[in-house]
This record gives sequence, C-alpha cells and structure tokens, in this order.
Amino acid sequence: VSMSDPEAVWHESYRHPTAWDSVYPPLSVVDMFDQSAASAGKAPLIDFLGRHYSYAETLDGANRVAAGLQALGYGPGDRIGLFLPNAPHYLAAYYGILKLGATVVNFSPLYTVAELAHQVEDSGTRVLFTLSASALLPTALKVLETSQLERLIVGSIAGALPASKSILYRLFKRKEVTPRPNDPRILSFSGLIANDGKHAPATIDPMTDVALIQYTGGTTGTPKGAMLTHQNLSANARQVMGIDPHPNEPDRILGVLPLFHVFANTCVLNRTVLNRGCIVMLPRFEAGAVLGAITRTKATALPGVPTMYQALLDHPDITKTDFSSLRVCISGGAPLAAELKAKFEAATGATVVEGYGLSESSGVLSANPYERPGKTGSIGQPIPSTHLRLVDKADPTQPPPPGEPGEIVAMGPQIMKGYWNRPDADGEVFVTNGAGRWLRTGDVGTIDEDGFVRIVDRLKDMLSVSGFKVFPSQIEAILHHHPAVKEAMVIGLPDPYRGEQPRAYVTLNEEVAATGAELRDWLNPQLGRHERVDDVVIRLTMPKTMIGKLSRKDLIAEVMAETPPA
Ligand code: AMP
Repeated sequence: VSMSDPEAVWHESYRHPTAWDSVYPPLSVVDMFDQSAASAGKAPLIDFLGRHYSYAETLDGANRVAAGLQALGYGPGDRIGLFLPNAPHYLAAYYGILKLGATVVNFSPLYTVAELAHQVEDSGTRVLFTLSASALLPTALKVLETSQLERLIVGSIAGALPASKSILYRLFKRKEVTPRPNDPRILSFSGLIANDGKHAPATIDPMTDVALIQYTGGTTGTPKGAMLTHQNLSANARQVMGIDPHPNEPDRILGVLPLFHVFANTCVLNRTVLNRGCIVMLPRFEAGAVLGAITRTKATALPGVPTMYQALLDHPDITKTDFSSLRVCISGGAPLAAELKAKFEAATGATVVEGYGLSESSGVLSANPYERPGKTGSIGQPIPSTHLRLVDKADPTQPPPPGEPGEIVAMGPQIMKGYWNRPDADGEVFVTNGAGRWLRTGDVGTIDEDGFVRIVDRLKDMLSVSGFKVFPSQIEAILHHHPAVKEAMVIGLPDPYRGEQPRAYVTLNEEVAATGAELRDWLNPQLGRHERVDDVVIRLTMPKTMIGKLSRKDLIAEVMAETPPA
C-alpha cells in the first residue's frame, strides 16, 4: 500500500484492522462475578437506600436463584427476563440466571403492556422477574395472560428495605400490590430462593454463549434483540476499566441509570464488580435523592445521561452537597452540551467524561480521557481494542468523499453476535470487508487527526429523549390506526432539558373530523413515558420527495425555520 494514497490506506486499514481479539482472554460474566466475590467477600456490593448487601450475600442470592430455577426445570439456553427497576433483586436474578447457563432478557420497567408482550413473545422468554409494585405487577400479569410466558417471580421491595412504606411510595409513585393468590404460575422471590443454593453449574463458552438479549430499535425502529455474549460483556467492562487511571481503587458508584440499559450494565454493574466497588443503588432518578446519596456515601463516580446532570444542577440542594469524593462523571446516551459540562464541572469539581456506544456494542465504543484533557463536543477516542472508521453513507464498502463526514462503523470484542432470531438483519447491520465484520452504527461523524470522534448527524430515524431512544416510525404506526389520520410524521424538536421532544404532524381524511388536542389525548396513553408527543399538529399537506414519499428532512427544515432555536 502506498502511504501517499489516502484511499489505498483507508481500504487497507478497513480490510485488515490490527488484531484485537487476543487482548482479552475469554471470560464469562459468571466467572468475572465469582472471582470478585471470592476476594471481596464481606465488602458491600450494593448500598440500597442505606441497607448494604455484600458480595458474599449477593453471590449466595445468585446461587439460590440458580438452584430455584433449576428445580423448576429451567436450564441452559432458556430466556429469562428482568422487568425490574434498580433493586437488589436485579443483581441476584441477573447472576443467578447466568449461573444456570440461561440468557438474561432485559425489559425496561417503563414498558407498556404491548411493548412488554411483544418482546416477551419475540425472545421466547419463559420466566419473568418483577416486583410487587403497582407500576410493574399489573403490566406483568396482563402479559402472563396473553403470552407464552410460563411464570412470574415477584419480589417485594419492602422486604429489601428497612421497612419504610413511605420510601416505597415515593420511589414508585404508587403502592405495593399483592399478587393474585393461588395462581401456581406466580411465585414469590423469597419462595424461589428458599433453598441451599446448590445447583449443577453450567458449562459456559464465553465466546459463543449469549448472556444478554438487549432490545433496541437498531437503525429502523423495529425492536430487535441484540445478542451479547459473555465475552462481549466481560470485554467491554475490561475495556472501560482500561482507560480508568485508578482501576484498582474500589468505586462507590451511583447506580441511578436503569440497569436494564447496556450503558448501566457495563458502566455501573460489570465495571464495578470488576473493581470490587459498591453500587449506591437508586430505583428511580430523583435529583434530591441523588445529591443526598453523594454526600451520604462519599460517592466517587456518577454515570448519567445529560438530562440527569442538568436536573442535578437545577436542584436547590446542589450548593449543600459535598462533592469532594466525586472523581468522575461518565456521560453518554445523548450529546452533552459544552455549557452543561462546564457548569457541572464548576459546581462539583469533578470531571465529566463523555463517551458513546450502542446496545449492539455492549455499551461503550469510545470515551474521552479521564485525566488528560479531552475534546469538548467530541465522543472521545475508541476505547482499547476498538476500531472506529468512517464509511460512505450510501456505500459502506467505500470511504466517504474526502473531507466529508461518514457513517461510523465499529469493530471490537464488544460487538454483538447478531440480532436474536433475525439472521436476515445481519446484512443491514454488519458490513463485511476483508478480515473484518464491522457494525454499522447509523451515526454520522468525523474523526480528527488525534482520533477524536464527533457525531454530526444520524442516518437512523431515532430520537434521544433524556437518553431514552424513541423511534418516530413506531409512533406514526399508532397514529395510522386512528380513522381521521391520513398521513403522519413525527419529528424531534430541540429541547433544552430532554435533548429532543417528539411532536406529531398529520393530515386528515376528509370524512372524519378531529382536532389536534383530541388526537394527542388519544395517542399519548398508548405511548411510553418518553415517547409522548407535546402536540399533534394538523396540516393541510405534507412535504414530499420527488417520488412522492413523505419527506421528514423537509418537514424538519420547515418547522425549524418557524421555531426559534431553543
Ligand atoms: P442505545 O442502543 O439505546 O444505547 O442507543 C445508542 C445510540 O445513542 C447511538 O447510536 C447514538 O445515536 C446515541 N448516543 C449514545 N451516546 C451518545 C453521545 N455521547 N452523543 C450523541 N449520541 C449518543
């Protein structure tokens, strides 16, 4: 390859990236946890609103979950779901399922019945763990009635706490509810773990066995389960620790990001287990509670999404909080505004390190350095053993035109095996080139001479609302069920607090009358909390492309021209 020919260099480095797979020896998530539990023993792994659970206790809980599930006839390859907020049950169930050789399927505790039912069906989930909170159990019970789900395991959060019903009420906004008695399909969590923890351990191949199925809209919005192997997850935890200047000092890390999401799975759970730290767990984000927990526990690390940092800054207690212990905040999931980063750093004295990744990459692909200065507005450099390249937006086998941004493609030990039951989707999400199989991220970016990446656009039709991913196509599909709606488009308007705010635009069928407010009130109850639109705007026509398709790009341009920037 002639080094003077940039295109030849691009092709060569794309076809033959440096070998990465030997850097991290194969390691199952179970062995990673067991090794830490063996040495950390009585040290706390969880601080749940002041109540501690040690590594040894959590290991014991996990062994009992594995034994309980094995006694019920479950084993290797089964899919077992977690419909749980952050709570001690999450960790015992997660490691217990993996010890069984089964696969964890993560479900957002904010899912509606339809969302939960669809993903339970799609993944073939046989057992679902949940809590007896009224925000969760009624949803899980409906799914038990309507899907192939065989059993519900219902934990009680009051049992995990120093018995304060008022905390429960505040954290879940609702009361605890009692599951239906006498239904043999419903078991209590405490009943499941009433055993000695002895079980036949599974033989796990970290390189091929799927530890986690993580649902995501991918690039199209149709929910698909990203299959993350044991090695994907353990490598990502080791990669993230690889850029930490203090990998051997156990952290006290704020666990307020929901654990069902990969960002928290890697940056809160597996990473902390690796450094034998303690997760200060909060079941729900509440700015005052987070600030109180930082002072109370002398927390050292706080991973979050930009909306959380903004909410903490806006809270009156920010000036009363003792941030002296906090060394690092890891921001991801959505772009971090330069002003927010500067203000939060000034208020707390901690560094906010922005990183980037996807469900399909087990969480993390890139991050800014912790101690050397990073580049504000950049998502940082690839983490160890990770390769990021730019490719042409239309043809991923070619470089982008000189000097122009391109779609970011990624390779590394953290890239998923594929989508569950969707081998047909491989062609869309991977591009194979020479020796390499690259993940297409659907994000468009630039890479500077120091290897710092900036995201400038998205190819995928996705919004990031407080870090939660919202797919306009899914909201549009619901709008089309309304008899008055002829055409529908949903776009994101810039929102200073949440990043983006979904809004719907529709044209109407002549025969059926409806107002925007009526349509909004019909639509929003069918949507998840972050998907809800602020308005349904009725238009006489929609902007169209040359071939007559609805043009989202033109609608956005039109709306932005009318709306003053936020
Ligand atoms: P998810 O699969 O839910 O983790 O969503 C992944 C997507 O979130 C990425 O493909 C990006 O579009 C977006 N994302 C994650 N981190 C950042 C960041 N730091 N800046 C901008 N977008 C981000």
